[in-house]
Amino acid sequence: MKIAALGAVLAAQFTLAQFKQTPLPYAYNALEGSIDAQTMEIHYSKHGAAYASNLNKAIAGTPQEKETIIKILSETSKLSPAVRNNAGGHYNHELFWTILTPEKNTQPSAKLAKAITETFGSMDAFKEKMSKAGADRFGSGWAWLSVDKNGKLFVSSTPNQDNPLMDIVEEKGTPILGIDVWEHAYYLKYQNKRADYLSAIWNVLNWKEVSKRYDDALSKK
Ligand code: MN
Repeated sequence: MKIAALGAVLAAQFTLAQFKQTPLPYAYNALEGSIDAQTMEIHYSKHGAAYASNLNKAIAGTPQEKETIIKILSETSKLSPAVRNNAGGHYNHELFWTILTPEKNTQPSAKLAKAITETFGSMDAFKEKMSKAGADRFGSGWAWLSVDKNGKLFVSSTPNQDNPLMDIVEEKGTPILGIDVWEHAYYLKYQNKRADYLSAIWNVLNWKEVSKRYDDALSKK
């Protein structure tokens, strides 16, 4: 290959999409029983893919091309609705895939379990609060467990693809668990029964990952 052609190839690579989906860490059918294969496939390969690709389009030629997703989220008030929706969509889904797992009965770390009990009274009370946040979200959005600036846990909900890292949300923090309550996340299996989806998701929750994210969030305080 001639040098000029090689240069063109390299240039093309460096101007390619900045934000990419990480591979799904399990098969589409791995969560069957709680989340069906078709929902996972469409959710990951169509919806998830679209947020990454539309984010890249929305930031093309802007300073955000050189920023991290966290930085972009922290300044959404100054950015276009397309960036807000797709940066949120990309971040939220990348988090969502990792906090699910086919592994049975993963447990929160002792430290996280203690913090959950201290904050919410019990694990069951926490799950109830989280499910309520998801059930009460009118239309599309997310339910979150996050760590605030003082290292305290809190449950919140955001509309659309907003999340607690955005400067425009009321309750700010670092999300460590996010549940997608858009209809595309559950409708094929659960139809209008969002509450059933919200209760089934605990069966495939990856507490190891949530515990790791809890430690990471605390270490950045
Ligand atoms: Mn989704």
